[in-house]
Amino acid sequence: MSSASSTDPSPRRRGVALLGSTGSIGQQALDVLDADPSFRVVALAAGRNAAELGAQARRYSPAAVALTDPDAVRELAGLVPAGTTILAGADALIELATRDDVDLVVVGTGGVVSLRPVLAALAAGKVVATANKETLVAGGHLVMPLAKERAAGRAAVDPADPLASPLGWLRPIDSEHSAIWQSLVGERLSTVARLILTASGGPFLDLPADAFAAITPERALRHPTWSMGAKITIDSATLANKGLEVIEARWLYDVGYEQIDVVIHPQSVVHSAVQFVDGSIKAQLGTPDMRLPIQYALTYPDRRPSPAAPADLVALARLDFRAPDTARFPALRIAREAGVLGPRATAALIAADDVAVARFLAGSLDFPGIPRLLEAAVTRFGTPTGADPDLDDLVALDADVRAAFATAAMGAFA
Ligand code: MG
Repeated sequence: MSSASSTDPSPRRRGVALLGSTGSIGQQALDVLDADPSFRVVALAAGRNAAELGAQARRYSPAAVALTDPDAVRELAGLVPAGTTILAGADALIELATRDDVDLVVVGTGGVVSLRPVLAALAAGKVVATANKETLVAGGHLVMPLAKERAAGRAAVDPADPLASPLGWLRPIDSEHSAIWQSLVGERLSTVARLILTASGGPFLDLPADAFAAITPERALRHPTWSMGAKITIDSATLANKGLEVIEARWLYDVGYEQIDVVIHPQSVVHSAVQFVDGSIKAQLGTPDMRLPIQYALTYPDRRPSPAAPADLVALARLDFRAPDTARFPALRIAREAGVLGPRATAALIAADDVAVARFLAGSLDFPGIPRLLEAAVTRFGTPTGADPDLDDLVALDADVRAAFATAAMGAFA
């Protein structure tokens, strides 16, 4: 797709800012955007991959690009088309996300730093589609009130407006939350009995507890159904990912933790479900392909053909479900406990998880050490201290957790 704005024949194409364009979510989002001429890529941002961002810039001719790593940005100058604005640093994400020509911001970046552009984009009246887990796990108490405020403004004019719902403004890209969102279309939240988050169970679903200490990064990186980045693949193997998703669901759908169940479903076809007060369950099924939930977040409330293969029930033949084992996968329990404690605990949890996974991949923490580190961080940093943390508090807390656990000897928390 080539899309220089000066020759754009359709003034109604929606402008997209893609934050994290060189990552797994970013590249799949571009795949979706390639197939949909109703969007125009106007801004691309990445961390430090100048070569890939340059290639994307030559392909999409965005108005602006940014690298958050100020050192890497020097390499970018010769790689982007003339006329493309080049920005650097974390603040550049805010500038891209709030541009006048941007309607929709897709957030594929990781880390608590992504909270600032999300909040700035919502404040500026942009729709945000996010795959960033910190958005809700650390900042749900900041982000959801803004999305609700935006939705209330639309509801006052037209209750049938798709943007009259907070989910119209803060759109989940995660497959589970997308499935719940899709299952809730046409329903009232007050008739929801439970949310049912499905989990593949990861590669160690049937591994005995006494074999966990010998798990290597190479084995943990082999996910049975999904193709994803390294961090989320390890999170799927520990079920920490599902724990974080429970917390996200609590904020997105405004339900209590006791109303959110996790069910192991190894085929990853039922992406999640909702049970209503009459006992009925509605679920969304699809091929395990992130381009499906990414596309729904972009086109909501519309559907259109997808580059992903269609689901085929006869070919699938069977779908299995079972209860999770929180004894072998304690991260699930720890995440719920953090959720009940509040935003300080969930912010500590997600920062600690980043540290724990990095240490596991680097070989300085064994697999069972990951949940132990999570629990230690929640215990040490998660106690509520009166007011909920604001954005600056969250950034400081994130740094404190990293400093405390990044190089700690196992004895410090084991
Ligand atoms: Mg997920």
